[in-house]
Amino acid sequence: MRCPFCGNVDTQVKDSRPAEDHAAIRRRRFCPSCGGRFTTYERVQLRDLVVIKSSGRREEFDRDKLERSIRIALQKRPVEPERVDQMISGIVRRLESLGDTDIPSSKIGEIVMESLARIDTVAYVRFASVYMNFQAVGDFDRFMSELRPNPASK
Ligand SMILES: [Zn+2]
Repeated sequence: MRCPFCGNVDTQVKDSRPAEDHAAIRRRRFCPSCGGRFTTYERVQLRDLVVIKSSGRREEFDRDKLERSIRIALQKRPVEPERVDQMISGIVRRLESLGDTDIPSSKIGEIVMESLARIDTVAYVRFASVYMNFQAVGDFDRFMSELRPNPASK
């Protein structure tokens, strides 16, 4: 962490302790170069993800929308709701850790397919077949809103 007084980047942490009821960590830092002391706080950063649609349009990432499409793919499948929740949280964490807040919608589709493949083959096939179909016509946006369970599997 760069010293705010002299610009030296080689500062030392003297003390770390939980703050704000464990929502943050407070660090006391010392700069050996100028003797300056300062404090930093470390917090969880839940990033605002932006979905880049196939049309090039940007849209705020909507976890509920993602969840709906996944639940439709999993309809009537013997998968515990808890596992579905965990999977969705895992997907969101993966998206948040991609290193870029702008995420192509096709990347989201890929990650969803990977995750579904691991928990339920039928749901994966449902999702993938519809996804591939829409991807072929370059219309993933419609896919996300129109995904429906396969009538034959009811
Ligand atoms: Zn300094």
